Amino acid sequence: MRLSQYLAPTLREEPAEAEIPSHRLMLRAGLMRKVAAGIYTFLPLGTRVIQKVEQIVREEMNRAGALEVRLPIVQPAELWQETGRWEEYGPEMFRLSDRHGRLFALGPTHEEIVTDLVRNTVSSYRQLPVTLYQIQNKYRDEVRPRFGVMRAREFVMKDAYSFDRDEEGMHRSYRAMYEAYERVFRRCGLEFRVVEADSGAIGGSYTHEFMALAESGEAEVVWCPRCGYAADVEKAECAPPAPSAEAMRPLERVATPGVRTIQALVDFLPIDVEHTAKILFYAASYGGGREELVAAVVRGDRMLNEVKLKNALGALQVRMADQEEVSRATGAPFGSAGPVGLKGARLLLDREVAAGRNWAVGANEEDWHLRNANPGRDFPSGPIHDLRLVGAGDPCPRCGAAMESRAGIEVGQVFELGTKYSEALGATYYDEEGRSRPILMGCYGIGVTRTVAAVIEQRHDEAGIVWPVSVAPFEVVVVPVHYADPAQREVADRLYRELGEAGVEVVLDDRDERSGVKFNDADLVGYPYRVTVGPKALARGEVELTRRATRQTESLPVERLVAALRERLAADRAVLSVE
Ligand SMILES: [Zn+2]
Repeated sequence: MRLSQYLAPTLREEPAEAEIPSHRLMLRAGLMRKVAAGIYTFLPLGTRVIQKVEQIVREEMNRAGALEVRLPIVQPAELWQETGRWEEYGPEMFRLSDRHGRLFALGPTHEEIVTDLVRNTVSSYRQLPVTLYQIQNKYRDEVRPRFGVMRAREFVMKDAYSFDRDEEGMHRSYRAMYEAYERVFRRCGLEFRVVEADSGAIGGSYTHEFMALAESGEAEVVWCPRCGYAADVEKAECAPPAPSAEAMRPLERVATPGVRTIQALVDFLPIDVEHTAKILFYAASYGGGREELVAAVVRGDRMLNEVKLKNALGALQVRMADQEEVSRATGAPFGSAGPVGLKGARLLLDREVAAGRNWAVGANEEDWHLRNANPGRDFPSGPIHDLRLVGAGDPCPRCGAAMESRAGIEVGQVFELGTKYSEALGATYYDEEGRSRPILMGCYGIGVTRTVAAVIEQRHDEAGIVWPVSVAPFEVVVVPVHYADPAQREVADRLYRELGEAGVEVVLDDRDERSGVKFNDADLVGYPYRVTVGPKALARGEVELTRRATRQTESLPVERLVAALRERLAADRAVLSVE
């Protein structure tokens, strides 16, 4: 391509609305433009990058034996009503009606549609297993779309669904997708961790997330550098605490006027924070309008993990109870609650509290606390659950080494669904003995546009994007300093043509711009290599080759350029290869 005839409108100014590097750079480098909140147009450069990621995904899906299909974006409400998700999905689903008043959704995901397809086309064990996938726009009406394509309302996703005869087959299909995902993200040049995750609203029991590590990530990944254990912070566990060796001391009631927080209690008594416990009240709902007040006790300096609490209770949802609800149920003034003599709420202990001794806790009385409260003696010793949020420094649940933690961007997720959808929709098959059985499913997603953003989050500098060759919009830009100069023009045109003929993806910056502008744009867009055709080097029969990632420049004879570039590109591709 010649940039004089290309639509790549770069921006010199920082776009005001962009909060993270990928969002800023996708706008500045002319990859995309905003149309509405969370909705973007992709320009030619952005489209090329998306297509490259899609192609990597497609190759790995095909290699894993998955079959590509195209399912509709506009989905009839009836299918969603069959699984109960028309109600469950809530306001995130874009809904519309046709001219006859029939209701539809813009597909946020495709379990219903694909299961409907399979129930109508698969009937025999001979037709299984099968994995179907598609690469398509998805729609989610996010409350607060932000970070560009990271949390958009329209985005490109690869979704796949596996159908198997039995659990063993489902595990095999899951494993095949898991391995395909590792290959996809390695080929895209991402640094990522595969983590154990909570299955959330989709259901199912077994799931992993693929997290690209990046400061701007909204998720947190915890992992063990020694044994490789890794989990989403929502799911992360740590080694159980050792039982305290302390002797129980006598329970004391202490006046603590005005003390409302753990920090104030630590300062007032004084006491180690490791000997304080706090109680957190949640309203847990179980469906059918059933709700209960729950009191979770964790160490004073710990955070409660709401996902763990929800799972421990088997609740559909938990939310922090308000002051009014707590006071009404327990009779204790807000902020003074403690586990000793607590009424009106179901008590749950975190493992650390159950294993500890001599806790300082609220006395359920304004301006009083208790010291040396002990589980089993002063308050119930259970039920005990792992409720706290785990973080850097906590001991690994498998080997005990101190864990590390970093922010991450979820770029992919794999789920074992079991029979959740096949039972709801009646997707069954006949086995060898002619018995009807439900099909076992898995579902697998990759955020394609989000992967593009994650690559930029990991690979950029102050001047712009630093693409890996595998997903760069073009591999090389040829920049003549003065294209109007006949000698430069002749060499630039020739290199452009020869590189193209050699199979290199090349653009020629033949615009009538100052060289500084062209260099800045080349850095901003992030072509992995820049070939500069300038008067000084050309006088020696040379051109300059600059590697974007390192900014290192070398002079090469014009005749050597094509071969040298091909060598470098081959070496770069080898680094990203998964063979
Ligand atoms: Zn470990």
